[in-house]
Amino acid sequence: MSRYSGQIAIPGWGREAQERLKSSRVFIAGAGGVASAAALYLIAAGLGGIRLADQSRVSLEDLNHQILYRDQDLDKPRVVVAESRLKEVNPFAVVESRVKPISGHNITRLTADCQLLIDTTNQPNGHLLNLAAARLRIPLLHARVWEMNGHLTTFLPGQGLCLACDSVCLQEEERWSPKAGIMGPLPGILGSLLALEAMQILGGFRPSLLGRLLIFQGSQFRLSEKEIKANPQCSICCRPLKT
Ligand SMILES: [Zn+2]
Repeated sequence: MSRYSGQIAIPGWGREAQERLKSSRVFIAGAGGVASAAALYLIAAGLGGIRLADQSRVSLEDLNHQILYRDQDLDKPRVVVAESRLKEVNPFAVVESRVKPISGHNITRLTADCQLLIDTTNQPNGHLLNLAAARLRIPLLHARVWEMNGHLTTFLPGQGLCLACDSVCLQEEERWSPKAGIMGPLPGILGSLLALEAMQILGGFRPSLLGRLLIFQGSQFRLSEKEIKANPQCSICCRPLKT
């Protein structure tokens, strides 16, 4: 209670939301810059469990923007280092690492028992996670960063909105390139926003970014948004949630 007293004191958050956060588990696809910032904040803030999947090793060009890793971690699997570092931040959290690519074969196992999915990786994984979120009827947070730009939104398949629903989101997705450069603080900004949205959802509040694609342009310090429209014909999420 002392560890989280700063949050518990916030009107509208309190002990009940904190306990919900503590009893939640999140799956994060990827262990790069956005995942680094988001995982650090979520674990520090009292998230009960986190499962990370990624197949990459720490490389020198990661270190300008992936704050989970240090020079001594070079060539080690990113999620193994991430697990160790996150346990240092909060030894009461359950941190699981999976050194493997995400595929249609393992997505069900990877996301089992999770209440929220977070996608920080690339387009094929985005659609796999979208399908998993639709199957599990849980929210999917989706973030991308490139150069000095980033975007972030929340999908909730079954409440009429998923990655496959709207061409705006898919067009933004196409602008992203895995080979693009990255300004160091950008993943930190998007990862922090993502962690805050995740905490609100897991704390029992309605997602703030449902139907809104938040766009940050770092070169102009401009935060804007585009509306994402649900597609009633969407084959992924057209079936309503059972209430
Ligand atoms: Zn949809």
